[in-house]
Amino acid sequence: MTQATDRVTEARHRMVDEQIAARGVRDPLVLEAMRRVPREVFLREGLEEFAYQDTPLPIESDQTISQPFIVAFMTESLELHGGERVLEIGTGSGYAAAVLAEIAGEVYTVERYPNLADGARKRLLRLGYDNVQVLHGDGTRGWPEHAPFDAIIVAAGGPEISESLRQQLAVGGRLVIPVGPTQRVQTLVRVRKVAEDRFEEEELLEVRFVPLVGAEGWAEGAELPARQRRPQEPARRALPDLVATAAEPFETLEGGGMAGLLERIGDARVVLLGEATHGTSEFYRTRARITRELIERKGFTIVAAEADWPDAARIDHYVRDLEHAAPDWVAFTRFPTWMWRNHEFRELVDWMREWNSNRDREHRAGFYGLDL
Ligand code: SAH
Repeated sequence: MTQATDRVTEARHRMVDEQIAARGVRDPLVLEAMRRVPREVFLREGLEEFAYQDTPLPIESDQTISQPFIVAFMTESLELHGGERVLEIGTGSGYAAAVLAEIAGEVYTVERYPNLADGARKRLLRLGYDNVQVLHGDGTRGWPEHAPFDAIIVAAGGPEISESLRQQLAVGGRLVIPVGPTQRVQTLVRVRKVAEDRFEEEELLEVRFVPLVGAEGWAEGAELPARQRRPQEPARRALPDLVATAAEPFETLEGGGMAGLLERIGDARVVLLGEATHGTSEFYRTRARITRELIERKGFTIVAAEADWPDAARIDHYVRDLEHAAPDWVAFTRFPTWMWRNHEFRELVDWMREWNSNRDREHRAGFYGLDL
């Protein structure tokens, strides 16, 4: 093994321990399969470095490769022991099919996008999974030629449980499928075929999947745009683009440009001011300006910082009780000195003291520590 493959293997093993076993997946066959399948091979170029992060990722055609934990959880809930015949609906990248193929005897997988089906087929072949067959088509109808199946797994969310899939289960077989009344959220349901015409259902987990589109799924063309259906999943748009859309630009450090931000803040009673980097003068100055505006125009009376309590209390005595003369002002000598003990912050503190000195006690703005 080269050093690079060593590192990837290590990351994969860590993913299994920290994201999968730690969340309660116990089946040794599933854990071993997850340790073996190289998820990076199933990702879009450029995303390989995120292969073992705890998240779904975008693939072609506005679809996603599932979060590793979800693949493991669903695979475990199929209760495979080895050698079974399994049907998967929603091949996507082919990753989950590979995980299934590590355990099952034969895997049949159906994908509605031809480019995804082709890509998955090639990857699976290249990795030597000769027990997987990929079909391009509408999986809500199942794959009757190869039925009955011991297990069926559906990797997309439909409005209800497809009748064809129920029928194609062997007696004793398990179907695991996300179902929900909208495309935003689904419940993962396990259907067990206990007799030819008897099914038992249990709800396993709340999940968010891309829509299952087909004859026994959502109607073609009725899919919600990706951003609307999965608010908590990684956005498909590039990060700089998202930041640009959400941001309120300041043309200069000192002058104007505050109106839009203040309007968005509205009558919020708590405003969180973060900084992209600690210790950058421009961020500190801008944060101080925003703080002054909130105090002056919106009547805020509490400035709370991730800072040492005793240190912060000293500053509060200085700005609110008007104690200590400026020359003996010492604070932030303990932790973390550079983060608060700087000119930009000192200016804000002096401004607060000045502001408070013209007001009676209950209208003054205080300074509080939230840390240590
Ligand atoms: N198992 C995949 C996850 C794929 S996401 C992986 O490991 O990468 C779900 C996939 O289901 C998408 O690729 C989507 O195109 C597909 N899909 C949605 N409706 C389908 C249908 N009716 N038949 C087959 N595939 C469908």
